[in-house]
Amino acid sequence: MVKCSFCGKEIKPGTGLMYVKTNGSVLYFCSSKCFKNALKLKRKPIDVKWTEKHRKLALRAKSSKDSKSSNKSSKKSKGKR
Ligand SMILES: [Zn+2]
Repeated sequence: MVKCSFCGKEIKPGTGLMYVKTNGSVLYFCSSKCFKNALKLKRKPIDVKWTEKHRKLALRAKSSKDSKSSNKSSKKSKGKR
């Protein structure tokens, strides 16, 4: 199954649209919403909240922060009186 080039959602066969750029690269979009955001509004998937790419990046940023903070919290829990 093809995934949407913008939001990362799986596109069911027979739905969505395929866009071929003049340089030959092919983009798949699950809906006109993704199509407009990518080509008309020229937004990056990472900057748009409802895309999978944004979520993955946010998760990564969170997990890297969590690993740091978890060290601190473990120290705190040891210092219980
Ligand atoms: Zn999409």
